[in-house]
Amino acid sequence: ADLQERFVAANPASRERFEAHARFMPGANSRSVLFYPPFPLTMARGEGAFLWDLDGHRYDDFIAEYTAGVYGHSAPEIREAVLDAMEGGINLTGHNLREGRLAQLICERFPQIERVRFTNSGTEANLMAITAALRFTGRSRIVVFSGGYHGGVLGFGAQPVPTTVPFDFLVLPYNDEASVREAFAREGQDIAAVLVEPMLGASGCIPGRPGFLQALRTLTTEAGALLIIDEVMTSRLAGHGLAAQHGITPDLCTLGKYIGGGMPFGAFGGRADVMALFDPRSGPLAHSGTFNNNVVTMAAGHAGLTRLFTPAAADALAARGSGMRERLNARCAEAGVALQFTGVGSVMNAHFVGGEILRPEDHAAVDARLRQLFFFHLLARGIYASPRGFIVLSLPLGDDAIARFEEAVADFLARYGHLL
Ligand code: PLP
Repeated sequence: ADLQERFVAANPASRERFEAHARFMPGANSRSVLFYPPFPLTMARGEGAFLWDLDGHRYDDFIAEYTAGVYGHSAPEIREAVLDAMEGGINLTGHNLREGRLAQLICERFPQIERVRFTNSGTEANLMAITAALRFTGRSRIVVFSGGYHGGVLGFGAQPVPTTVPFDFLVLPYNDEASVREAFAREGQDIAAVLVEPMLGASGCIPGRPGFLQALRTLTTEAGALLIIDEVMTSRLAGHGLAAQHGITPDLCTLGKYIGGGMPFGAFGGRADVMALFDPRSGPLAHSGTFNNNVVTMAAGHAGLTRLFTPAAADALAARGSGMRERLNARCAEAGVALQFTGVGSVMNAHFVGGEILRPEDHAAVDARLRQLFFFHLLARGIYASPRGFIVLSLPLGDDAIARFEEAVADFLARYGHLL
């Protein structure tokens, strides 16, 4: 309560903005994930890995646009690419060279992608990948996992009420090979695809166990179903994506977030024979989208992947994240508290619970007030992490910022460790 009172007192401009815009937008926002009570901060500008809110406070940005912001807020290489694209004019109503260049780069970087198509969001990419699987197999059922998040209309978590398109979904527990095996034994002939995140992102950065992911590959192959790996969030966690790191080749894969250089982006791709469904010369499926090949995104994406977030840079950022998570977990273990940081590489989540977390159900019982306390504690120290404890590194985020984060956690343990 004390921290919240200080928050309200320190942020009159954010509060005023919230109240004014609530007259035009429900809850004064278009992105549910950004809301938290009593009102969320309004950001005024960003530079590198810093953000400034409307009341002039500066924050180390540890959300980084929920992983899309890997380049930070002002990378000159991205800016140059966007300006260069604009020089040639936008909305060209035709094919352009930039889309082919980005497609080539993606196919070369992610070994499972033989052919790719662009969308404007990860949500659309998953909708299209599912559509392709339904058509390719002539079957109707899609296996997904409890807590999985594949987009605004493809959420299978508990909070708040998911909005889901009416596909024929079968929702199974994550990291539970036996239940998938049973489902395939029972109704394998009806299953068109398994759609899975190799690390559950929105549900708390819970890594898929190698044996579980491998079993999905084997079971889908045996049953003639497709394996769709949603790498919208995880493709940044290793040089060639997380599936490749596990040695797993899905039939289809979806991408999004940072790959568009910070512009709206999504993509789906994979086996050439499946993607041929979309070849207008021979395939039955149409897929249009006014901005699918917009030059600004194509240019920003190409610059980002070639000049900044190369496979080597992705591996290096992942190593920094792993180091940070190991140090944080060591600190928590030393303090003997029920706080742990899960995740892979540069993306992680704080959980106020002991024991191994294999699925979202394992942290569901946590007192939400602890998360809130942690969130407002970090904000008060100039650290912008997500209210659900989601923490993300970006390229310009320095070791000094990481040290500030670790000090803030140490201070949290000293002040509130007795509550954990
Ligand atoms: N899939 C995963 C794993 C995601 O994390 C997200 C976004 O957070 C999406 C899909 C949806 O992407 P978008 O927000 O671009 O629609």
